[in-house]
Amino acid sequence: MSKVPVLVTGGAGYIGSHAVLALKDAGWHVAVIDDLSTGTREVVPEGVPFYHGSIAERVLVDSIIDELKIGAIMHFAGSIVVPESVEKPLDYYSNNTVASHGLVEAAVDGGVKHILFSSTAAVYGAPERVPIEEEDAKLPINPYGASKLMTERMLSDASVAHPFNYGALRYFNVAGADPKGRSGQIGKGSTHLIKIAAEAAVGKRPHVSVYGTDYPTPDGTCIRDYIHVSDLAAAHVAALEWLTGHPDDNLVMNCGYGKGLSVLEVLDAVDRHTNMPVKRVMEGRRSGDPPELVAANAKLLETLDWRPEYAGIDRIVGDALEWERKLAERNARG
Ligand code: UDP
Repeated sequence: MSKVPVLVTGGAGYIGSHAVLALKDAGWHVAVIDDLSTGTREVVPEGVPFYHGSIAERVLVDSIIDELKIGAIMHFAGSIVVPESVEKPLDYYSNNTVASHGLVEAAVDGGVKHILFSSTAAVYGAPERVPIEEEDAKLPINPYGASKLMTERMLSDASVAHPFNYGALRYFNVAGADPKGRSGQIGKGSTHLIKIAAEAAVGKRPHVSVYGTDYPTPDGTCIRDYIHVSDLAAAHVAALEWLTGHPDDNLVMNCGYGKGLSVLEVLDAVDRHTNMPVKRVMEGRRSGDPPELVAANAKLLETLDWRPEYAGIDRIVGDALEWERKLAERNARG
């Protein structure tokens, strides 16, 4: 297997920065492009070439591909907040679909051989059955999911006409932080349950709102499949290895553990890690939340040389809390 230089878009963001760490740990040469709209430079390891700019800046992207002889791109840059996508759909199609088009065009023109794309379970919308299999209906219920699905389609069509292969990893609920404390979620205005619960646990928030207690689930709260961000990052490295070894094939797969947990079960796990339980405030449903999302992950387990190392909600929550305490200490120091 040849280890081509890899460009990571959005490498200063939450998942992208963990992918950079995993790539480096596995001996790949990595460079990062990030516009720092939500990411932070500090989570990019020292020694990794960093380009501050947007993937929509074609001259910049062309020059990086050319100068560093980029052979593969891991594409994380994009917008990810579902309710915001409903309010600002055109921004989402711009950042997630149009910008990806420019990146794919630059990759094709620059002779990049592999593209690994950050996709999402939101492409399935409100599924008719769980666990969700890759072939199940893709009927996104918000612009975020639609903008990602369009990019998947674009990659599929372009990979037929041009000499590259691609992977699209459909993430379920990503949480936790690097077990070595090198990165985690910075979360300017995060909406994600485990991040919010961790912030409440360290006193940054007075409580956690539980959005909806009347869902058709055993305890009435929504069920999600939470995957540790470092396991997800390792799956990216394994997927890139697979793409380099199968130049004529593409890879579209779910990334989750295949196990569902309710909101209350997640909060119970947080309470197991803290001296004082996090205050819960029961509220109405948040719009657009499907009751249950769980990945069928047979394809992931059977195709890639990958096994979860940090599975289990206690591990995920423990690493998220560790990171949150670190952020809180740093803020306290000013
Ligand atoms: N959730 C909650 N309180 C919060 C944030 C999220 O009850 O402060 C619920 C949310 O309604 C959903 C689940 O937790 O059922 C996971 O939400 P999250 O935003 O983490 O991820 P999503 O599944 O929406 O991508």
